[in-house]
Amino acid sequence: DGKIYIAGYHTALITRLAAEFAHELRNPLTVIKGFVQLSDYTQEFDKYKRTIISEIDRMHAILENFLTLSKKQIKQQQMLPDKVCTSLISLISSECSLRKISFDYDVAYSEKKCSIDLSMIKQVILNLLRNALEAIEEKEQSEKKIFFRGAIETGGYRFSLSDNGSGIETNVLKQLGQPFFTTKEKGTGIGLSLCKKIVAEHHGTFCVSSLPGKGTTVSFYLPFTVA
Ligand code: ADP
Ligand code: MG
Repeated sequence: DGKIYIAGYHTALITRLAAEFAHELRNPLTVIKGFVQLSDYTQEFDKYKRTIISEIDRMHAILENFLTLSKKQIKQQQMLPDKVCTSLISLISSECSLRKISFDYDVAYSEKKCSIDLSMIKQVILNLLRNALEAIEEKEQSEKKIFFRGAIETGGYRFSLSDNGSGIETNVLKQLGQPFFTTKEKGTGIGLSLCKKIVAEHHGTFCVSSLPGKGTTVSFYLPFTVA
């Protein structure tokens, strides 16, 4: 169509992404520098340590997404989806136990395989988890819940992540997955669009369902490889 694409993205989008990433990285850097400078004047460095670590985590997530976006090709392997679930669950469970958040899962065993780039699928789950954690931020610690499900469906396997957080209003639901769409003050609106892209490259489908005030389930379905 005459337009120039890099890694499947139109160059105008790449320019926008680059600006967005630079901007997003500058914020946590400023916060970190400020807090480290403060430590010269205070004995209470421990109080700031948590903020510094969470800002570094934020930068890490932004960089991971940027790296994923810049990957030209995905390297898919034939994998049993329940084995994939096992590695996703260990990711989720370590993030949740760090934050002392209750996490549970249910995985259906599968004899059929899917074509999967594990590092990409991990990136999807990390983005979904980040959103879930942000959605339950306001809840009482003891009420926060994350749930992962792996289920067999006709012709494929569905991976889903649920939270009992804020939920998504219907008018917001319609706009999800558009690049840069965000409802968060510190959001980038890149997470879900990246997830959609990765799932599409796996020939899968992506689905968000939500009850405002009750919670959200985000899932993706990957087809079984036809032997
Ligand atoms: P960001 O997290 O930077 O805002 P995303 O693309 O990850 O960008 O998400 C886009 C929007 O989708 C969020 O701003 C939020 O409004 C909504 N959203 C995504 N996941 C959830 C969830 N689990 N619960 C509530 N809202 C969500
Ligand atoms: Mg996000």
